[in-house]
Amino acid sequence: MTKPTTTNTGVPVASDDESLTAGTQGPILLHDHYLIEKLAHFNRERVPERIVHAKGAGAYGELVVTNDVSRFTKADLFQPGRRTESLVRFSTVAGELGSPDTWRDPRGFAVKFYTRDGNYDIVGNNTPVFFIKDPIKFPDFIRSQKRLPGSGLRDATMQWDFWTLRPETAHQVAWLMGDRGIPATYRHMNGYGSHTYQWVNAQGERFWVKYHFKTDQGIKNLTQAEADTLAGADADYHRRDLYESIERGEFPSWTLHVQVMPEAEAEGYRFNPFDLTKVWSHRDYPLIEVGRWTLNRNPRNYFVEIEQAAFEPSNLVPGIGFSPDKMLLGRVFAYSDAHRYRIGVNYAQLPPNRARAAEVNTYSKEGAMRFDYNAPDVPVYAPNSFGGPHADPARAGDEGTWTFGQEAVRAGYIQHREDGDFGQAGALVREVYNDEERDRLVGNVVGHILGGVREPVLSKVFDYWKRIDPEIGKRIEEGVRTAR
Ligand code: NDP
Repeated sequence: MTKPTTTNTGVPVASDDESLTAGTQGPILLHDHYLIEKLAHFNRERVPERIVHAKGAGAYGELVVTNDVSRFTKADLFQPGRRTESLVRFSTVAGELGSPDTWRDPRGFAVKFYTRDGNYDIVGNNTPVFFIKDPIKFPDFIRSQKRLPGSGLRDATMQWDFWTLRPETAHQVAWLMGDRGIPATYRHMNGYGSHTYQWVNAQGERFWVKYHFKTDQGIKNLTQAEADTLAGADADYHRRDLYESIERGEFPSWTLHVQVMPEAEAEGYRFNPFDLTKVWSHRDYPLIEVGRWTLNRNPRNYFVEIEQAAFEPSNLVPGIGFSPDKMLLGRVFAYSDAHRYRIGVNYAQLPPNRARAAEVNTYSKEGAMRFDYNAPDVPVYAPNSFGGPHADPARAGDEGTWTFGQEAVRAGYIQHREDGDFGQAGALVREVYNDEERDRLVGNVVGHILGGVREPVLSKVFDYWKRIDPEIGKRIEEGVRTAR
């Protein structure tokens, strides 16, 4: 027997064919709430498409580490033999959600690893370089590759105008106009982390790294003529190929390699190693194998698992850090911001974005569509005196620091000789307040405490006021103890 259709809240409905009307010829009635639910939900089925990389395809897989790179990084996911679940989303860049897969364009190659230490994302492309090297140019660059404001048409003049006015684009343009500008399928292209990242080993030594995912299927490309034909015959050609090959049990794989540069070599290298428009020559920094990355499972629901997948270069795990690559640092802000806009502030709770193995102990709370929450006795603020989670200062080095230019630090203000938290507060109550104001101050604080401050916080409040002014602190404590 088929199941009864229900409303979104589980109540069986009478019809999916006829709306409720006043008589057979009469108008539709507003209290046909099931009709209203259907129409209203349909109107809201889309989330905004990604402003770049709108058209894509994705799959799950796993990384198996086959080599020992622990001398370069303590990152758990790269330790010998480790297997880590993974999600990938391949995409074109400039086209919209329904655009043909075979347009000439770089391809996004965004990989999420569900590590024991939380999610790690390498949000790269099928090219090791990019068109620009400073994020302030990104909106201009993308607009020049999209559509004219009046006609809504794409425009080669606009594309070449930007490229020629900003010659830093030359390397990526030379690549894009070459054979690899249109891959035969997503399976037949390499992926590159593109940016320079930092690796930190167990001894705290720092290295710069670049990621290379080399396709085990071999590189294959389409000619312009083949791509043009496919754009009309099957706009979803690459999405279909990926899905169908995994359904057939033909699991595509890539061998993950890294190039590793000792930290101190960066300053003297012949290319600026943080400039995203440059590669590190293979001759200078040969590829070192890390492991085998295989795609072996299709999503069961494209919208939930791929359209709502949120990849973000800000997802780093211990042993991996940022670098002075300005494009990377710009993307660290931009991606999370895009997800908050596109799929909502609680996007990290959605199935493809949830951390799998790591505990999530965040102080983030509430917001639209929140359905995950801490136990009621877990405080909602930090610091607290009630056993809530603590940030670990030892993690500071893991975020990626570097020593040329200014070191990135988490540090307080430099203390001048009269600085200190209590000095000016004490001066206020001793030197500015008169006796009556001091009496009211003591009364206000005692009244506030009697409103329900409990241990261990109560003792901290007395101590706090004694450090502002010993006399005031004593009076507050006496006032509270007498009243209780
Ligand atoms: P190499 O000769 O060692 O590297 C050349 C690399 O070019 C190959 O290994 C291959 O990269 C890539 N390649 C081959 N055919 C094409 C193509 N049609 N379109 C795009 N890339 C292709 O020299 P260098 O390392 O000194 O690099 C020289 C140039 O090669 C760079 O300026 C860059 O444009 C390109 N390149 C370099 C990479 C690097 O990380 N050093 C990576 C990719 C390209 P792969 O092995 O990754 O397939």
